[in-house]
Amino acid sequence: MSYITFKNICKSYDNKTQVLKGIDLEVEEGELLTLLGPSGCGKSTLLRCLAGLEQVQQGHILLERRDITDLDARQRQIGMVFQQYSLFPNMTVEQNMAFGLKIQRLSKAEINDRITEALAMVGLQDKAEAYPAQLSGGQQQRVALARAIVTRPKVLLLDKPLSAIDAKLRKSLQVEIRRIQKQLNITTIFVTHDQDEAMVMSDRICLLNCGKIEQMDTPIAIYTHPRTKFAAGFIGSYNVLEPLEFGRVTGDIDLPAQPIAIRPEVLNIAREKQNLPGTCDIEGTVIDSTPRGNVLRYKVDVNGVQLSADTLFRSFSIYENGSKVWLSLEKRNCLHVEEEAV
Ligand code: ADP
Repeated sequence: MSYITFKNICKSYDNKTQVLKGIDLEVEEGELLTLLGPSGCGKSTLLRCLAGLEQVQQGHILLERRDITDLDARQRQIGMVFQQYSLFPNMTVEQNMAFGLKIQRLSKAEINDRITEALAMVGLQDKAEAYPAQLSGGQQQRVALARAIVTRPKVLLLDKPLSAIDAKLRKSLQVEIRRIQKQLNITTIFVTHDQDEAMVMSDRICLLNCGKIEQMDTPIAIYTHPRTKFAAGFIGSYNVLEPLEFGRVTGDIDLPAQPIAIRPEVLNIAREKQNLPGTCDIEGTVIDSTPRGNVLRYKVDVNGVQLSADTLFRSFSIYENGSKVWLSLEKRNCLHVEEEAV
């Protein structure tokens, strides 16, 4: 049964442009759901509507089957972490964390116990007396997380919490947040525009585009079976070919009815034609290559259509720009996708 329900949520800031266009979404208890999508698609707005920081024009939000659409933010029992760490600079870590607990009128002993426990969880036991300015960005964000969970909220909302943190630390914080979320079994909605981060963190991903849901699925399902052109482009860096382009690339006369999506890593690049059963061989010219970690991504021109093809980055087999190559493509790796979400 759904723990949080968004029913037909519509929201605009200026009564002209709709930022959220009828969002229907159910979040299960204990799951980490990621709202993923390009900047400006409405992810933070949806989160802020759930937190009660923004009012919706239409629709309802339910938490544990109770309608909280018009409930004051302070009564929703929702913890939130923002991109900016937003700690009180004139208060120590401990005072920052005690703030929400004092509002809850907990006893001094209970407040101390909870702070000790939450600081241990984020590995900052020895920083209780420190001021925010004495901490690194990563540490401040761990305090912000501890401050959110110390109140034992029903839901944890994380609004691009790692965007301001450098790449290496971001990876370890991703793991840490996921560990704490699982340990507490706390229902969490995480916002990011980074597809890799969404893949690593989430039980499910809700992909948003221009205020609408494009696809909602597990990370693996959304990666291997994107339903729309947008999902294919955003999640797996798929090559998305219109039916005519697909015909130009493969030489097929029977054109597909829908666009076709092909992942870069399923296009096998070689000097010679492969002639393998169930595959088609595509002749092209390398026009560019970019190292992406342990993968080298080639851009190959095929009859005026540019395709991305990934290979493992082995220095002994690099094709120079201008090289004639053959791409072999298994037919089963050609996915039909919708023009747009229905
Ligand atoms: P995302 O989190 O996906 O980047 P947002 O929800 O922050 O997107 O913003 C969605 C759209 O709403 C953007 O076009 C943004 O400019 C606009 N917007 C966000 N907050 C406000 C606001 N307080 N007033 C007016 N427009 C806003």
